[in-house]
Amino acid sequence: MDAGVSPYAQGLAAGVLRYQRCGACAQAQTGQRFACTACGSAQLAWCDAAGTGTVFSVSTVHRAPTEAWRALAPYTLVLVDLDEGPRVMAHGAPGLAIGARVAAQPVVLAGQVLVRFERTPAAT
Ligand SMILES: [Zn+2]
Repeated sequence: MDAGVSPYAQGLAAGVLRYQRCGACAQAQTGQRFACTACGSAQLAWCDAAGTGTVFSVSTVHRAPTEAWRALAPYTLVLVDLDEGPRVMAHGAPGLAIGARVAAQPVVLAGQVLVRFERTPAAT
């Protein structure tokens, strides 16, 4: 395995969304950090998320930050509260609404593996 690739990126390549959980206070967080945002502990462990969650906010990006992304614009970015607790920012299917139940799907955009949230079939 390539030591330069983060556990997050490795997980994503395998279709698994990962997050960090603090070994000291059990706070869950996303992104790759070296210390817990709640208590400062460095005892962080990677966990696999189920990939399901609820949309917290939705925004549409009309101006892409790079040339590679320009072909994709406008695209949708969402903040999703994962069922495990942490909030993640990722791409979203167009038309997602706040409060919608979603599931993460790995997608390749502009040569990168990224997370995109799609609406889950209505759960009963
Ligand atoms: Zn902590």
